[in-house]
Amino acid sequence: SLDEAAAGRPGPAAHNRSESLQQQAGSLAGRRAVITGGASGIGAACARALAARGAAVVVADRDGQGASALAKELEGESWAVDLLDTPALEDLTLDADILVNNAGIQTVSPIQDFRPEDFRRIQKLMVEVPFLLIRAALPGMYARGFGRIINISSVHGLRASPFKSAYVTAKHALEGLSKVTALEGGEHGVTSNCVNPGYVRTPLVENQLADQARLHGISEDEVLSKIMLTESAIKRLVEPEEVASLVAWLADDDAGMVTGSSYVMDGGWSAR
Ligand code: NAD
Repeated sequence: SLDEAAAGRPGPAAHNRSESLQQQAGSLAGRRAVITGGASGIGAACARALAARGAAVVVADRDGQGASALAKELEGESWAVDLLDTPALEDLTLDADILVNNAGIQTVSPIQDFRPEDFRRIQKLMVEVPFLLIRAALPGMYARGFGRIINISSVHGLRASPFKSAYVTAKHALEGLSKVTALEGGEHGVTSNCVNPGYVRTPLVENQLADQARLHGISEDEVLSKIMLTESAIKRLVEPEEVASLVAWLADDDAGMVTGSSYVMDGGWSAR
């Protein structure tokens, strides 16, 4: 009551809040989550956030050592896999309640200089692989009447930038795949959504910072302030943990009516 609150004692509101926090801590208990590219950056943050809420995590990455170190820390499993080996994925049955399609790479070059093999590799890893993994996971999800497909897209899934033809094309395609999955999965308790971050502080972006600094002959701080964050309202990079908390919410029972959507987290970049 108000009187109790005024007296500094825990009133009913405070009690409910701590109950809901406890619920949140174990809200994914009994769920099995597979995270691709889980050894680094956003994927690793997702593995941590899902494990913290009680999920059993499978860290899938071509960096087998990184995957097994994180899996050990989170008392989960690791899956050392080069996802570009797609024939191996065609007959796969993926036992997962939550699938986070996160593994991604980036090559920046004008279209006329873009190597066709780089273009194809990016489509394969960021479109064909999510398709194959969703295909492998859906039968189990349909059988259990529950599933969460979470596709790590990008602001580049919704808007373009020059010199990122392969990346922008792949992320736009992933948006389409995510929506079709939502339409087919809905009646089976499966949701599918995209998460669309702006620049996130990960090795992928730190490498871009270094490349652009070299390219333009400026410091990495200047790349941030003059190139990457000029359009941002909140003038800092997104932290991987911030993306992961959105992913964890989408994975939860609470988000059961959220499907076929795309969630932008870009500090206001695309509002301009
Ligand atoms: P990262 O480079 O830190 O991590 C990517 C992980 O994917 C690495 O552990 C890598 O080993 C793994 N991986 C790459 N190729 C693989 C393959 N063939 N098989 C298995 N694993 C493979 O990258 P990140 O910044 O965390 O990006 C993760 C996702 O987030 C990507 O899809 C990226 O497009 C997206 N994203 C990133 C940003 C950003 O600013 N960092 C912004 C928007 C979207």
